[in-house]
Amino acid sequence: MKHIRLIEDWFLNRRCRSCGIPLVLRPGHVGLVCSACRESLSVEFLSGQLCTLCGSPLPGGVDVCRHCTETTPAYTNHRSAFLYQGRVATLIVDFKGRGYKQLAAYFAESLAAIVPDCDLLVPVPFRPESVRRRPFDPVTLIVRELSTVQGLPQVPLLRRRPGKSQKSLNRAARLTNLKNALYIRPGMHASVSGARICLIDDVFTTGATVDECARVLRHSGASRVYARTVAMD
Ligand SMILES: [Zn+2]
Ligand SMILES: [Zn+2]
Repeated sequence: MKHIRLIEDWFLNRRCRSCGIPLVLRPGHVGLVCSACRESLSVEFLSGQLCTLCGSPLPGGVDVCRHCTETTPAYTNHRSAFLYQGRVATLIVDFKGRGYKQLAAYFAESLAAIVPDCDLLVPVPFRPESVRRRPFDPVTLIVRELSTVQGLPQVPLLRRRPGKSQKSLNRAARLTNLKNALYIRPGMHASVSGARICLIDDVFTTGATVDECARVLRHSGASRVYARTVAMD
């Protein structure tokens, strides 16, 4: 009897991270997000007029944003599933900051809708220092789930040398910080040559990181480099 109670408690404690309902009461959940929240969040998918290059929302009548007109990104195009706001922002904080790793499955489901036709998925590499703060790499978890959903190989082709966190830096400082920080893992160049790659990251802020990853991959012979992220800040 005690065991049944414990099992019941365990199920009832597994709640939707968005609305708080016990998941057992709302089947069809994916990665700690109940079926009703998956449905209502899908309405928030980023849509409408977007920059054809970086994917940022634009006023009508323009195809490319001012920033991409001034500096063409190295990636073919970038899209985010969501804007970084409201319930999605809370879910990302739960995932990255509070250790709700199961949310990776929900983010992968959201990304699946915007992954282009490509040969492989490549996670944007984490900074070596961030492993000390967090016992897991959020992007690796998302890419693993996405690889299963899409039936596409995921290959961690890129590495990152230790350096400052990008968070506190402006765009110019980010680019300097990134220069030479990213490189192709030794022995992996053959996988890059001619490949259509989709880079995956969690949050797109200035785009400097995915741009530099794309530049390194293109330089090593990737035929196309797309970028997809969960949310755009
Ligand atoms: Zn819910
Ligand atoms: Zn743009």
